[in-house]
Amino acid sequence: MPLPVLSGIPPEELAAALEAGGLRQPRFRPLQIFKWIAAGAESFDEMTDLPRSLREELAGRFRLRSCETAGRFADADGTVKISVALADGVHIEAVLLADAGGRRTGRYTACVSTQAGCAAGCVFCKTGSMGFVRDLDSTEIVEQFLLLRQIASPDAAADPPAPRPQGAHAVSNIVVMGMGEPLLNLAELRKALAVITAPEGMGFSKRRITISTCGVAPGIINLADQGPGVRLALSLTTADEELRRRLMPITERYPLPAVKAALAYFQRKGGGRVTLEAVLLGGLNTRNEDAAAIADFAQGIDAAVNLIPWNPAEGLSFDGKPLREPSAKEVEGFAKQLEERGLTVTRRFRRGRGVMGACGQLCGSRSL
Ligand code: SAH
Ligand code: SF4
Repeated sequence: MPLPVLSGIPPEELAAALEAGGLRQPRFRPLQIFKWIAAGAESFDEMTDLPRSLREELAGRFRLRSCETAGRFADADGTVKISVALADGVHIEAVLLADAGGRRTGRYTACVSTQAGCAAGCVFCKTGSMGFVRDLDSTEIVEQFLLLRQIASPDAAADPPAPRPQGAHAVSNIVVMGMGEPLLNLAELRKALAVITAPEGMGFSKRRITISTCGVAPGIINLADQGPGVRLALSLTTADEELRRRLMPITERYPLPAVKAALAYFQRKGGGRVTLEAVLLGGLNTRNEDAAAIADFAQGIDAAVNLIPWNPAEGLSFDGKPLREPSAKEVEGFAKQLEERGLTVTRRFRRGRGVMGACGQLCGSRSL
């Protein structure tokens, strides 16, 4: 049996985890260890305020981390994609995006994965074309953030560790928009977010974390009821139910009216403005009636629409025809139609395309 891993355990569960591993400690110890993990320690030996004998005992009973960076690909636009090797040999990907202003501002967004592969099977998504491999555990989600943070601010580890105020993060936002469907792995994601947002450690603000879902209605309701109070994005892509069923087969299970009701509930519970993401597929979902359908869907919810021109990935087709990128004119025309219907529209930058690290291009390969 491999040793249990500590990186994904929230502070309030750490004492019990240590005890389950045969280590009973005074009350203040687990918190001390948690702070080191949050500060980015990679070995127990770095925990200089613990007695040496305890560090040795910890190393004999636990692992601090379970993942490794297996590859690192930097795009000219400042995006860095990493391939992460999980302990069982499965590979996933995570992406560090330079915020607007890029490397000049030193602010980054970390995009993390929640599953290896994805069962939802959206026809335009490279991850979807892989099928489902397995859920990630909280450790594997937290560690993606730690690995990306390390790239964003290589010298930031505190010694001895102190909680970070939000402003002290080089990573200013987290988007749960990598591989997989977050709301189909909500328990582990929730645990990971408890670690990342714990005020005793990383102290990351919940309002700077966005979960993107393809529309798992019960998951949205669960999130509304039980938190954490993060932001939500729905990958709508089209509000034409018939077309959506063909592009995003999950629509069959969670039809749009149910998804809309879940979004409204999320907002009634204080969830705030949601983002409706629309991947624009050339010649497919940028018609007048698509704009009208999105406007209709958005009626009665506080929403902004984020347009994502489709990023090419090999081997994806629809109705026997290859998918194509929308032209700039098509994107602008569609944005205008939405705006004329009173919607707030943003456009997603196409960062990371040089390293196959843009939306929908992640597939867990070890090379480009
Ligand atoms: N499974 C979740 C989160 C990961 S996908 C979801 O679907 O929301 C993150 C975003 O990338 C989604 O909005 C998805 O619609 C979009 N996407 C998928 N494939 C894409 C592609 N090839 N080009 C552009 N965006 C894509
Ligand atoms: Fe899965 Fe999201 Fe890709 Fe759809 S878009 S296949 S839900 S990762």
